[in-house]
Amino acid sequence: MANQDLITRLDNRLDQLVNIDMGERGVEHLFEVARELQGGSLVGAAADALMAVPEGGTVVLTTGSVSRAWITPDLGENDGPSGAAAIARALVLARNATCVMLCEETLLPAIRNTCQAAGLFPVTLEQAGVARADKSLATIVMLPYATENEAGQAQAVQLLDELKPDLLFSTERVGRNEHGVYHSMKGIDYGMGRARVDFLFDEALARGIPVVAVGDGGNEIGMGKVVDHVKAHVPYGDTCQCGCGGGIGAVTTCDVLVTAACSNWGCTAIAAAMAARAGNAKLLHTPEREALLLDTMVASGLINSTHGIVDDSVDGFPRQSHLAVAELCRTIVSRAL
Ligand SMILES: [Zn+2]
Repeated sequence: MANQDLITRLDNRLDQLVNIDMGERGVEHLFEVARELQGGSLVGAAADALMAVPEGGTVVLTTGSVSRAWITPDLGENDGPSGAAAIARALVLARNATCVMLCEETLLPAIRNTCQAAGLFPVTLEQAGVARADKSLATIVMLPYATENEAGQAQAVQLLDELKPDLLFSTERVGRNEHGVYHSMKGIDYGMGRARVDFLFDEALARGIPVVAVGDGGNEIGMGKVVDHVKAHVPYGDTCQCGCGGGIGAVTTCDVLVTAACSNWGCTAIAAAMAARAGNAKLLHTPEREALLLDTMVASGLINSTHGIVDDSVDGFPRQSHLAVAELCRTIVSRAL
């Protein structure tokens, strides 16, 4: 196992790599303030929290954004799913965790395909229990989450009572602002058909369950932690275009916030930091697997939301940049493997 000084240096390099603001979204400001609040590496703190999940524990994850909600609820974006799948895979391999992935019913097929391409076979909760007991299969449990406020609040209580999760993880999952509106990065209201899973995270925080959240824009679950800085530094952070009187910043906070220029990159870096801690290269999200997931997301109809087309660019960044980030994360932590 690598020593703590080395791990800290690697964590800081991963942090820096994935927070180069190539998309000009203002993420560098959010990164600085989040690091200040965290008192160190964001990626490292996230990996610590994930590796602290007890052996055989339960983790609730969410991702998925209904990208053109005003046209169809069936279309999701391709930032989010591959990163969430990479984290779920690492959790299953490192902690024998039961991972429960929540998203809209409409996005379940695409996100399920992405998780399966990451090595996780979709099963019921009961079946996951059998697989956990004899460690014979890497699994994922996919569950739909309510898309109306009241139902979302009720499901939050019911799911936490039932699952008793050890940790919640969110990546690229839009949360409501102080007026209850779910905004796109362009400041428009696109809450229709969108899972109210932010209520689950609020309830988990109230119960003291650890929450790790990844975001790149300011409108995601977890960004409540730096909401003043979203207002100051992110386009439409102060005033949206929908007329609700607020900005795009999500109110839901978290324990560990990981900022990144692209949310998937944040997840790739966290998986690398988990691999470094475990001394286990199998936890890495490799460029080879990223390529497979990008292809799977295209085949499943997930959209490159920046360009408004189904292709293998994510957030407008071309395919090769995602493979390169995965390669560089692997290179950074190779000293610990
Ligand atoms: Zn608004």
